[in-house]
Amino acid sequence: MKISENVPLSTLTTMRLGGPARYVIEVESNSDIEYAYNFAKSRALPTFIIGGGANTLAHDEGFNGVIIKNAMQGITEEEGVITAMGGTEWDAVVEYACKHEYTGIEALSKIPGLAGAAPVQNIGAYGQDISKVFVSASVYDSATGEFKTMSKDDFKFSYRKSVMNTTEKNRYFVISISLKLTTGRMERPFYNSIEKYIFDHNETVFTPMNVRKMVSAIRAEKLPDPKTTPSAGSFFKNIYITEEETFAVTQKGIPIHRGNDGIKINSGWLIEQAGLAGQVYNGIRVSDKAALVLINESAKSFSDLAATRDFIITTVFNKFGYRLEQEPIELVDQGQKIADLLSNG
Ligand SMILES: Cc1cc2nc3c(=O)[nH]c(=O)nc-3n(C[C@H](O)[C@H](O)[C@H](O)COP(=O)(O)OP(=O)(O)OC[C@H]3O[C@@H](n4cnc5c(N)ncnc54)[C@H](O)[C@@H]3O)c2cc1C
Repeated sequence: MKISENVPLSTLTTMRLGGPARYVIEVESNSDIEYAYNFAKSRALPTFIIGGGANTLAHDEGFNGVIIKNAMQGITEEEGVITAMGGTEWDAVVEYACKHEYTGIEALSKIPGLAGAAPVQNIGAYGQDISKVFVSASVYDSATGEFKTMSKDDFKFSYRKSVMNTTEKNRYFVISISLKLTTGRMERPFYNSIEKYIFDHNETVFTPMNVRKMVSAIRAEKLPDPKTTPSAGSFFKNIYITEEETFAVTQKGIPIHRGNDGIKINSGWLIEQAGLAGQVYNGIRVSDKAALVLINESAKSFSDLAATRDFIITTVFNKFGYRLEQEPIELVDQGQKIADLLSNG
C-alpha cells in the first residue's frame, strides 16, 4: 500500500487539470481497502475511487479527501470466464482475450483506463459494450464494510450507465471483474467505420486479433493518445431517440444511425454542423478529427473547460434544440454536492 499527500489531480487525470488531492492511497489487497476507508472515516474525510483518470474531470480546488486507487493487477481464466484485477490496464484484458481467440471485446481495444472502471460507465465502442459479456464483479461495499460479489443484474447496465455512475456513485470499490467470452468471430456486418476500413484496406481475415488491429488503427487515426495529448475521450454522449422521434429528427435534416444498441443521433455531427470542430476556446480545442473530443491544449483551470463545455452545449442547443450531456464524471465530494444542492433549494 502506498499513501501520498497533496497529489496534483492534474497528474491523475488524462485531461490534466485539477488542484491537489489531500491523500491518495494505492491499495494492493483487501485489507488495504479496509484500511483506506477506515483512514478516511477516522479523519472524517470523503473518498473517491480513481482508475486511470480517463473519464474523470478534477476541479481547480482539488479534493479535500482520500482518493483510493486499485493497484491490484493480473488476469486469470477458469472455465471460459476471464477475471481481471481492477488495477489491470483495460487494453491488456482485450489483448489477452484476442490472443486466446476469444470474441466479445475486440472492438473495445485501446479504450484507456483500468479494468475496475470498465463496468462503471459500461464502456462501449464500435457496436460492443462490456455489459454484453459481463458476468460479475468482486467489490467492497463502503456503505456496509462488506466484501461481496455483484452480478450483471446488480449493475443495471444501459448506454454508458450502471448503478456505479447513477444511483450508487462511489459506493462500491471494484476489486476485480469477470467476463464470459466466446470463441469464434464477430458477426458481419461490423460497425460502419470497421466495414469502411475493411473495404479501404482489402481486409479478409476477421479473427479477434485482426479486428483488434483494425479498431486500433481506426482509433489511432482520430482519437488523441492520452499519454501525449490531454483529453477525456468523448466529452459528450450520443443522443438516443425512440422510433416515434425519428420523423421529427430527419425533418430537421439530422442523420440518424440505427444499430444493435438503438437509434441515435451522433452528437459529434451536431457539433461539426454548428461550426465548432477544430476551434479553440479558452485553451480547449474541439477536435477536428472527432468533434466529440475536447483536447486540453493550454487550459490551466477547470473553469476554462467548463466555460467551453457550456458554450458548446448552448451553441448546439440554439441550432438544433438538443441539449448535449457531458460524459466524464466530475471528481467532487458527493456528500458536499448534496449539501450544496439542498442549501441552494
Ligand atoms: C482518448 C480516450 C478515448 C476514449 N474512448 C472511449 C471509448 O471508445 N468508449 C468508452 O466507453 N470510453 C472511452 N473513453 C473513456 C474512458 O477510457 C473509460 O470511461 C474508462 O473506463 C475509464 O477508465 P479509468 O480507469 O481511466 O476510469 P477513471 O476516470 O479513473 O474513473 C471513472 C469512474 O469510475 C470510477 N472507478 C474507477 N475505478 C473504480 C473501481 N476500481 N471501483 C469502482 N469505481 C471505480 C471512478 O470513481 C469514476 O467515477 C475514452 C477516454 C479517452 C481519454
